[in-house]
Amino acid sequence: MKTAVIYARYSSSSQTEQSIEGQLSVCNKYAKDNDLIIVDTYIDRAVTGTNDNRVAFQQMLSDSEKKASWEIVLVYAIDRFGRNSTEIAVNKQKLKKNGKTLISATQRTSVNIDGSRNLDGILLENVYIGIAEYYSAELSEKIIRGQSENRKKGLHCGGNIAYGYASVDRKLVIKEDEAEVVRFIYQQYGNGIYVSEIIEALTSKGIMYKGAPFRPSCIYSILRNEKYVGIYEFKGEIYTDIYPQIISVEACAKVKARAKENRFGRRSTETIYLLRNKLRCGYCGKPISAECGTARNGKKKYYYKCVGRKKHHNGCEKTVLKKELLEEFVINFIIGELCKKKNIDNIVKAIMDMQTQQSKDNPILSNLKKEKKQVDASLANLLKAIEQGVVSRTTTSRLQELENEQEELERKILTEESKSSMMLEKEEIEAFYVKALKCESRLIIEILIKEIVLYNDKMEIYLNTPAKNGPDENRGFSFYNKTMNLRYYSKYSRLFVDEDAIIDIRV
Ligand SMILES: [Zn+2]
Repeated sequence: MKTAVIYARYSSSSQTEQSIEGQLSVCNKYAKDNDLIIVDTYIDRAVTGTNDNRVAFQQMLSDSEKKASWEIVLVYAIDRFGRNSTEIAVNKQKLKKNGKTLISATQRTSVNIDGSRNLDGILLENVYIGIAEYYSAELSEKIIRGQSENRKKGLHCGGNIAYGYASVDRKLVIKEDEAEVVRFIYQQYGNGIYVSEIIEALTSKGIMYKGAPFRPSCIYSILRNEKYVGIYEFKGEIYTDIYPQIISVEACAKVKARAKENRFGRRSTETIYLLRNKLRCGYCGKPISAECGTARNGKKKYYYKCVGRKKHHNGCEKTVLKKELLEEFVINFIIGELCKKKNIDNIVKAIMDMQTQQSKDNPILSNLKKEKKQVDASLANLLKAIEQGVVSRTTTSRLQELENEQEELERKILTEESKSSMMLEKEEIEAFYVKALKCESRLIIEILIKEIVLYNDKMEIYLNTPAKNGPDENRGFSFYNKTMNLRYYSKYSRLFVDEDAIIDIRV
């Protein structure tokens, strides 16, 4: 038996929302079905303002650092773990660092309860995150259309004012000197400059924050603050005319993309060799290792080079390949295979099946219906009593109470039913799937590829067998257990699949 904690959160900006009680009952049932012992429960009931002040969540993260307290964090859905894909990835990484696993009671995750990983789980997880983002963006639009009268006038209604702004007669205006700093930070970070270097540059120009050099956390919070693109969220509602825009949507997207690249660590984009320990030389049989050299202009260059070639200068005929070139070629090829109709169809079908199943046995809906039945019965009894002449002040107030309850329940049931009927289309799932593949290329290589034997004009890609996870674990994919023979050539410092090549896939 494994030990787990439940984390539940209510977020008003998510359309496919379930109540805290609903989330807990689903999680508890899952724990019971899967032999998990729940040792603690963390709940964030309401999230206010723009800051990530989810107290229980932070407590859970800090508790996860303690050794041997529990092993699993159980959530209703993966989107409990952050408000966008970057946040979710960062938080998941923190848990992983502490040796804890994230499990969703309603969705398949990349890691199973026993700690093993699976490819379709990774893909599904990314699809779910994409779907959650899509819904919250769609909802934001609706909220903007119906925003409340007070803030509609674009007035600032108290609270902290973000760096770069000042309040004049309750209207926020841009403080041009500070806005310039914000633009500088976005532009530098978006272009790949590290936060420490940005701080250095600011400090050397004498630009301070509250009298002291900028702290990294301050830079990160500026980079995360949606107010700079003109979006202000308050109690789940979004206002676009309170904060004047300082940063373009494009610059913000660039920063987000870079933050995502960096989520595995500071220099990860430079030094992670995707194919490390996966390559073997087809001529001499020795491993092909990752190597780094410095060019005359001081720029670092990265290669994959045969070990046999390294030792004796003319020892092996395998040519040296540029890191990016080879990695891009392999990733594109593998993604191309995963995007083949049969594979896409299988995974999309799996997601749609799950979606149908989920909407069919919606425990929240059945609970609500049960409650309504009870209220209906009490109401009928009370009416009977009134007919028989039992009328007092308490019966009339009780009648009113029950009628209100009935109405409220009917409303909740309607909402819940409309949620269940809001299913994703096949095309939407497909789009998220393709996006997920691109996001997780590193994991895909790690899990899928056993070994690549490299020649100067061809490579043999040996794929892993899913045997470890059992036969039905990776059912979706047609090419497990196979070898791909691929001819290639290089031109204009790029690698191409040889057009005449016969891609031979052997079982
Ligand atoms: Zn060799």
